[in-house]
Amino acid sequence: MLAKCSNASCTASFRFLHVGRLFQFEKRHLSADERTYGTGRVSEAEFFWLCEECAAKYTLVRSVANCVELAPVKERAPAVARTRAVAAGAGA
Ligand SMILES: [Zn+2]
Repeated sequence: MLAKCSNASCTASFRFLHVGRLFQFEKRHLSADERTYGTGRVSEAEFFWLCEECAAKYTLVRSVANCVELAPVKERAPAVARTRAVAAGAGA
């Protein structure tokens, strides 16, 4: 799962923990063994990784369908630029 970037259209290979961004999600599906042996709900973590380039543009979220999906990172820079422009306009 961590062999490569979680962005399906990216081919970056996972090499170092400090490069890119690591995501942890709790597994919500019981495995066949857990159902068979009645061990109850076991909290188990799944790890996903985005390379540095993808982590700058995307984040990972758990969808309604219980899948881990790529979602765009909210852009903050344009909002800040707009606020500054408005402030400059008001001051002049
Ligand atoms: Zn990537």
